[in-house]
Amino acid sequence: MPLVLLVEDDATVRGALTHALSDAGHAVQSVATGLAALQEITANRPDLVVLDLGLPDIDGITALRMVRAVCDVPVIVATARRAEHDVIRLLNAGADDYLSKPFSSAHLAARIAAVLRRGRVLPGGPRSSPPIDIGGLHIDPDRRAAELDGRQLRLTRREFDLLAYLAARAGRVVGRRELVTEIWQQPHAGTDQTLDVHVSWLRRKLGETAAAPRFLHTVRGVGIMLVAPE
Ligand code: CA
Repeated sequence: MPLVLLVEDDATVRGALTHALSDAGHAVQSVATGLAALQEITANRPDLVVLDLGLPDIDGITALRMVRAVCDVPVIVATARRAEHDVIRLLNAGADDYLSKPFSSAHLAARIAAVLRRGRVLPGGPRSSPPIDIGGLHIDPDRRAAELDGRQLRLTRREFDLLAYLAARAGRVVGRRELVTEIWQQPHAGTDQTLDVHVSWLRRKLGETAAAPRFLHTVRGVGIMLVAPE
Protein backbone atom coordinates (compact mmCIF):
# COMPACT_ATOMS: atom_id res chain seq x y z
CA MET A 1 0.00 0.00 0.00
CA PRO A 2 1.62 3.27 -1.07
CA LEU A 3 2.41 5.67 1.75
CA VAL A 4 1.26 9.23 1.11
CA LEU A 5 2.54 12.04 3.28
CA LEU A 6 0.05 14.88 3.51
CA VAL A 7 1.49 18.24 4.55
CA GLU A 8 -1.33 20.63 5.42
CA ASP A 9 -1.73 22.99 8.34
CA ASP A 10 -5.51 23.34 8.10
CA ALA A 11 -6.84 20.59 10.39
CA THR A 12 -10.22 20.41 8.65
CA VAL A 13 -8.71 20.00 5.20
CA ARG A 14 -6.15 17.57 6.59
CA GLY A 15 -8.85 15.41 8.17
CA ALA A 16 -11.02 15.36 5.06
CA LEU A 17 -8.14 14.53 2.72
CA THR A 18 -6.73 11.87 5.04
CA HIS A 19 -10.13 10.21 5.08
CA ALA A 20 -10.57 10.39 1.31
CA LEU A 21 -7.06 9.14 0.53
CA SER A 22 -7.44 6.25 2.97
CA ASP A 23 -10.66 5.35 1.19
CA ALA A 24 -8.73 5.44 -2.08
CA GLY A 25 -6.42 2.73 -0.74
CA HIS A 26 -3.43 4.74 0.47
CA ALA A 27 -1.71 4.64 3.80
CA VAL A 28 -1.76 8.29 4.85
CA GLN A 29 0.48 10.11 7.24
CA SER A 30 -0.16 13.78 7.87
CA VAL A 31 1.82 16.63 9.35
CA ALA A 32 1.08 20.33 9.74
CA THR A 33 4.47 21.98 9.20
CA GLY A 34 7.32 21.95 6.71
CA LEU A 35 9.86 20.86 9.30
CA ALA A 36 7.71 17.94 10.42
CA ALA A 37 7.36 16.99 6.75
CA LEU A 38 11.12 16.91 6.26
CA GLN A 39 11.52 14.74 9.35
CA GLU A 40 8.84 12.33 8.11
CA ILE A 41 10.34 12.14 4.64
CA THR A 42 13.77 11.32 6.02
CA ALA A 43 12.47 8.83 8.58
CA ASN A 44 9.72 7.02 6.68
CA ARG A 45 10.43 7.52 2.97
CA PRO A 46 6.84 8.04 1.77
CA ASP A 47 5.99 7.08 -1.82
CA LEU A 48 4.48 10.46 -2.52
CA VAL A 49 4.10 13.84 -0.82
CA VAL A 50 1.16 16.21 -1.10
CA LEU A 51 2.50 19.59 -0.08
CA ASP A 52 0.39 22.60 0.82
CA LEU A 53 2.34 25.71 -0.09
CA GLY A 54 0.85 27.90 2.62
CA LEU A 55 2.54 26.47 5.71
CA PRO A 56 3.06 28.29 8.99
CA ASP A 57 6.79 27.67 9.36
CA ILE A 58 8.52 27.51 5.98
CA ASP A 59 7.65 29.12 2.67
CA GLY A 60 6.27 26.42 0.37
CA ILE A 61 8.88 26.83 -2.36
CA THR A 62 11.65 26.60 0.24
CA ALA A 63 10.05 23.48 1.69
CA LEU A 64 9.89 21.98 -1.80
CA ARG A 65 13.56 22.73 -2.42
CA MET A 66 14.49 21.19 0.92
CA VAL A 67 12.53 18.04 0.08
CA ARG A 68 14.30 17.89 -3.28
CA ALA A 69 17.66 18.23 -1.56
CA VAL A 70 16.87 15.15 0.51
CA CYS A 71 15.29 12.80 -2.03
CA ASP A 72 13.51 12.27 -5.31
CA VAL A 73 10.06 11.46 -3.85
CA PRO A 74 7.25 12.62 -6.13
CA VAL A 75 5.64 15.82 -4.84
CA ILE A 76 2.21 17.16 -5.72
CA VAL A 77 1.86 20.76 -4.65
CA ALA A 78 -1.46 22.19 -3.52
CA THR A 79 -1.50 25.88 -4.14
CA ALA A 80 -3.84 28.82 -4.18
CA ARG A 81 -1.46 30.53 -6.62
CA ARG A 82 -2.49 30.35 -10.21
CA ALA A 83 -0.22 32.80 -11.94
CA GLU A 84 1.95 31.35 -14.68
CA HIS A 85 5.22 32.47 -13.13
CA ASP A 86 4.26 30.84 -9.82
CA VAL A 87 3.50 27.56 -11.56
CA ILE A 88 6.80 27.73 -13.41
CA ARG A 89 8.65 28.40 -10.15
CA LEU A 90 6.97 25.38 -8.60
CA LEU A 91 7.88 23.07 -11.44
CA ASN A 92 11.36 24.52 -11.46
CA ALA A 93 11.71 23.80 -7.76
CA GLY A 94 10.94 20.15 -8.45
CA ALA A 95 7.17 19.68 -8.14
CA ASP A 96 5.87 16.75 -10.16
CA ASP A 97 2.41 18.16 -10.43
CA TYR A 98 0.27 20.84 -8.87
CA LEU A 99 -3.35 21.32 -7.94
CA SER A 100 -5.03 24.67 -7.63
CA LYS A 101 -7.12 25.15 -4.50
CA PRO A 102 -9.90 24.45 -4.02
CA PHE A 103 -9.82 20.90 -5.40
CA SER A 104 -11.90 17.82 -4.69
CA SER A 105 -10.44 14.81 -2.92
CA ALA A 106 -11.39 12.72 -5.97
CA HIS A 107 -9.29 15.01 -8.13
CA LEU A 108 -6.34 14.70 -5.76
CA ALA A 109 -6.72 10.90 -5.64
CA ALA A 110 -6.64 10.78 -9.45
CA ARG A 111 -3.48 12.87 -9.59
CA ILE A 112 -1.81 10.73 -6.95
CA ALA A 113 -2.69 7.55 -8.84
CA ALA A 114 -1.25 9.07 -12.03
CA VAL A 115 2.01 10.15 -10.39
CA LEU A 116 2.44 6.78 -8.68
CA ARG A 117 1.72 4.93 -11.92
CA ARG A 118 4.38 6.97 -13.62
CA GLY A 119 6.88 6.20 -10.87
CA ARG A 120 6.41 2.48 -11.19
CA VAL A 121 7.37 2.27 -14.84
CA LEU A 122 10.56 4.23 -14.26
CA PRO A 123 13.85 3.16 -12.75
CA GLY A 124 14.59 -0.36 -11.66
CA GLY A 125 11.76 -1.78 -13.76
CA PRO A 126 12.04 -5.38 -14.88
CA ARG A 127 12.63 -4.44 -18.51
CA SER A 128 16.01 -3.06 -19.45
CA SER A 129 16.20 -0.65 -22.35
CA PRO A 130 19.27 -0.35 -24.56
CA PRO A 131 21.08 3.00 -24.72
CA ILE A 132 20.17 5.33 -27.59
CA ASP A 133 22.76 7.27 -29.64
CA ILE A 134 21.61 10.08 -31.90
CA GLY A 135 24.00 12.67 -33.31
CA GLY A 136 26.12 13.33 -30.21
CA LEU A 137 23.32 12.51 -27.83
CA HIS A 138 23.74 9.40 -25.67
CA ILE A 139 20.79 8.30 -23.55
CA ASP A 140 20.88 5.41 -21.12
CA PRO A 141 17.30 4.72 -20.01
CA ASP A 142 18.30 2.21 -17.34
CA ARG A 143 20.76 4.54 -15.66
CA ARG A 144 18.50 7.52 -16.44
CA ALA A 145 21.55 9.37 -17.67
CA ALA A 146 22.06 11.46 -20.78
CA GLU A 147 25.18 12.94 -22.37
CA LEU A 148 25.60 15.45 -25.14
CA ASP A 149 28.92 15.43 -27.01
CA GLY A 150 30.44 13.45 -24.12
CA ARG A 151 29.21 15.87 -21.45
CA GLN A 152 26.73 14.75 -18.82
CA LEU A 153 23.40 16.57 -19.08
CA ARG A 154 21.90 17.58 -15.77
CA LEU A 155 18.23 16.87 -16.42
CA THR A 156 15.30 16.83 -14.08
CA ARG A 157 13.23 13.68 -13.98
CA ARG A 158 10.62 15.08 -16.36
CA GLU A 159 13.18 16.48 -18.75
CA PHE A 160 14.82 13.07 -18.90
CA ASP A 161 11.49 11.33 -19.45
CA LEU A 162 10.68 13.72 -22.27
CA LEU A 163 14.06 13.37 -23.95
CA ALA A 164 14.13 9.58 -23.63
CA TYR A 165 10.58 9.27 -24.94
CA LEU A 166 11.29 11.42 -27.99
CA ALA A 167 14.67 9.77 -28.63
CA ALA A 168 13.11 6.31 -28.59
CA ARG A 169 10.83 7.57 -31.37
CA ALA A 170 13.39 9.63 -33.26
CA GLY A 171 12.36 10.69 -36.71
CA ARG A 172 8.66 10.59 -36.03
CA VAL A 173 6.47 13.44 -34.91
CA VAL A 174 5.14 12.68 -31.43
CA GLY A 175 1.84 14.39 -30.75
CA ARG A 176 1.43 16.79 -27.86
CA ARG A 177 -1.42 14.74 -26.47
CA GLU A 178 0.68 11.58 -26.56
CA LEU A 179 3.53 13.34 -24.75
CA VAL A 180 1.26 14.73 -22.07
CA THR A 181 -0.43 11.36 -21.60
CA GLU A 182 2.77 9.32 -21.56
CA ILE A 183 5.06 11.62 -19.61
CA TRP A 184 2.54 13.02 -17.15
CA GLN A 185 0.13 10.08 -17.36
CA GLN A 186 -2.88 12.29 -17.22
CA PRO A 187 -4.31 14.83 -19.60
CA HIS A 188 -5.48 17.69 -17.45
CA ALA A 189 -5.70 21.43 -17.49
CA GLY A 190 -2.35 23.10 -17.18
CA THR A 191 -0.36 20.22 -18.60
CA ASP A 192 -0.07 21.78 -22.05
CA GLN A 193 1.69 24.69 -20.47
CA THR A 194 3.74 22.27 -18.39
CA LEU A 195 4.83 20.50 -21.58
CA ASP A 196 5.89 23.78 -23.20
CA VAL A 197 7.86 24.77 -20.13
CA HIS A 198 9.70 21.45 -20.00
CA VAL A 199 10.43 21.49 -23.72
CA SER A 200 11.93 24.95 -23.40
CA TRP A 201 14.11 23.90 -20.43
CA LEU A 202 15.23 20.80 -22.28
CA ARG A 203 16.08 22.92 -25.30
CA ARG A 204 18.22 25.21 -23.19
CA LYS A 205 20.17 22.23 -21.84
CA LEU A 206 20.60 20.87 -25.35
CA GLY A 207 21.98 24.24 -26.39
CA GLU A 208 19.19 25.09 -28.79
CA THR A 209 16.17 27.33 -29.09
CA ALA A 210 12.76 26.93 -30.71
CA ALA A 211 13.90 29.34 -33.43
CA ALA A 212 17.17 27.48 -34.01
CA PRO A 213 16.48 23.85 -33.12
CA ARG A 214 19.20 21.23 -33.16
CA PHE A 215 17.44 18.07 -31.98
CA LEU A 216 13.89 19.07 -31.07
CA HIS A 217 11.79 20.17 -34.01
CA THR A 218 8.33 21.51 -33.32
CA VAL A 219 5.72 20.76 -35.91
CA ARG A 220 3.22 23.47 -35.23
CA GLY A 221 -0.16 22.24 -34.12
CA VAL A 222 0.98 18.61 -34.27
CA GLY A 223 3.83 17.79 -31.96
CA ILE A 224 7.57 17.43 -31.58
CA MET A 225 10.11 15.36 -33.48
CA LEU A 226 13.62 14.51 -32.33
CA VAL A 227 16.10 14.12 -35.19
CA ALA A 228 19.89 14.04 -35.40
CA PRO A 229 21.38 17.41 -36.36
CA GLU A 230 22.61 17.76 -39.97
CA1 CA B 1 -2.23 26.20 4.49
